Order: sequence, then structure tokens, then C-alpha cells
Amino acid sequence: MWLLLRREASPDGIVAFLQQRGIAVQTQRVGERWAIFLPANGAVTEACLRWEEVERVISGEEAYPLVRAWTGEVQIGTWRRGEALLWIAGPCSVEERRSLLAVAQALRDLGVQVLRGGAYKARTSPYTFQGLGEQALDWLAEAKALTGLPVCVEILTEQHVALYLERGIDVFQIGARNMDNYWLLREVGQAKRPVLLKRNPQATIQEWLLAAEYLLLHGASVVWLCERGIRTFERSLRYTLDVGALPVVAQETALPRLVDPSHAAGRWMYVEPLALAGVAAGAEGLLIEVHPNPPAARSDAAQQLTVEQFARLKERAEGLFAGLRGLRQPLQSQP
Ligand code: PEP
Ligand code: MN
Repeated sequence: MWLLLRREASPDGIVAFLQQRGIAVQTQRVGERWAIFLPANGAVTEACLRWEEVERVISGEEAYPLVRAWTGEVQIGTWRRGEALLWIAGPCSVEERRSLLAVAQALRDLGVQVLRGGAYKARTSPYTFQGLGEQALDWLAEAKALTGLPVCVEILTEQHVALYLERGIDVFQIGARNMDNYWLLREVGQAKRPVLLKRNPQATIQEWLLAAEYLLLHGASVVWLCERGIRTFERSLRYTLDVGALPVVAQETALPRLVDPSHAAGRWMYVEPLALAGVAAGAEGLLIEVHPNPPAARSDAAQQLTVEQFARLKERAEGLFAGLRGLRQPLQSQP
């Protein structure tokens, strides 16, 4: 078992107390806290809980205790959990100032609560568009000032954490390719921002939740778990949206659940059915790529929606969400 201490609490007193009783302990720094590892022992657990430095006693078998115990508030911009679907929308990549500002305003007018846009892109081929970097961050800041929308941007390297904080990025996105980049997770957690964590298409649900545990342990205020399709043998769509992951995740944690049908679909005509499937399976929000002129997009051209297509999808998904209201209860135990 191990003891997770409160932020800034010193392990010295408890370590001395345990050692005086002949108990072998090991200490380890985790983010801003100390963890003390010791053999399981009921009487000792009781005694440890009386120390005010101890935040939680965690059993050795608990893989992701903070994810399981998470109970914080979830809200962003004008969105409040449970009241409506959360919409995170915008272009795959930020490409040009005027079109970004125009699409941001159109999305805000449609009721989108968070603007997304890629600045540094993780592209499969090194010969494709890699993103406009700092220029994109500047234009996103302008779009944020113009619309009042918080912005969500993928971060590829820990070297950019300070830059993103300085530019006022509200939600740090960890992309599918970086879900298990543990050093990045630690550093992004320390920024103490909400994090949108995509599931790696090769990751099990447990591996995904362990990545969320890294973020919470290192300081993230909340982790948005975003299912975006996994790799299967099927090739008609870009990935296979694992809607079954949503009820599983809901059993494991109170962290909010999102679906990204755009990257799962890979083609615009499949985005709406997958979005509706995600809502039916319990998604609390959707991440959708929207571009003023999708065929001309410099990345993910085939899957981005026009503003008009997005407006239709949003109306339908909200109709479904409202219709399901009475059904969104925790799973019942079997009689
Ligand atoms: C994205 O959201 O821009 C993106 C690259 O998605 P993913 O990491 O899911 O591929
Ligand atoms: Mn994309």
C-alpha cells in the first residue's frame, strides 16, 4: 500500500513514526507531493490516516486511485455539466487569420462553448503541413478575445508548456499519439489546467485511465477523456469508434467523457452518425473539426465539416441528448 501526502506536506514525521515501529518504507516524490510506500497492515493504515499530512491511503492493487476518486466541478466557458452537451469545434489546423476569426464567430453564434485549432501538428508524414506554431497561437488568442470562447490546443512537447500558458491556452490537448508520452503528461499536469486526453488508438481503457492518473497526480485540474477511435482490422473508416468505452469509463470514474467522431470517421459523411452514437453511449460533449472550406484544408480535409453541416449535426445531437435525458442514469446493478 502507499500513502499519498497532501501538497507541500513533509514525509519526515510519518517516516520516523513508521521506522520506529520496524516498518520498512520507501519515499518517492510525485509532482508536488510525496508518496510513502510500505507493506500493507491494517493497524498501520488506521494510524496513518490520523496524520493530517496524509491525503489518501491507497491499496497496492488500485491502478488509478485519483481517477477513481475524482469528484471535482466540471465547467468551461458557458458550459455546465449535465445541462447541455459540450461542443468543442474548430479547424484541424489554424491556417489563416481571417478564416479562423470568421469560423470562430460562426461557431460561437451557433452555441459552441470551446474553440479548437491546431498550432503544432503531429502528422504521420514529415512532408505534410506541420502547423503554423506561434503564429497560430497568436491568431487563436485573437479569436478568443473576439468571441470570448476558451481555446483548446494540442501540445506536442513539454518545451511548449510555458508558451501555452503565456498565450492563455485554456485547455491543453494531449493527442492520440502522445497519450502514453509520460514525461509530457507529467509536465502538462503541472500546468494545472484542464486537459483533454485523447485515447491512443492502440491503448486499452485501463492504459488510457492510467494516463489520466499521471495528469491528475501531477496537478491537472480535470481530465477530459476523449474517445477518438481505435485501430481494428476494419478499413472503411479511419478508425473504429469504441462507443463501448464510454459506459465502461463511466463505471470507473466521474471524469467527464467526450467523443471525437471526426478523427474516427476520417470522412465527413460518417461524422454525424458517429457523433449521434457517441451521445447515445453517454458522451457529455463532442469534439468536431469544422473548416470554412474543407476541401482546401491543409490537414484532415476529408473529414472536416462546413459550418452548415456542423449546424445540422449540432441540432440533431442536441435533440437526441434532450430525448435521452431520463435515461442518463448510472448503470443499475443486476437484481
Ligand atoms: C486533433 O484533434 O487535431 C488530432 C490530431 O487528433 P488525434 O490526436 O485524435 O489524432
Ligand atoms: Mn485533425
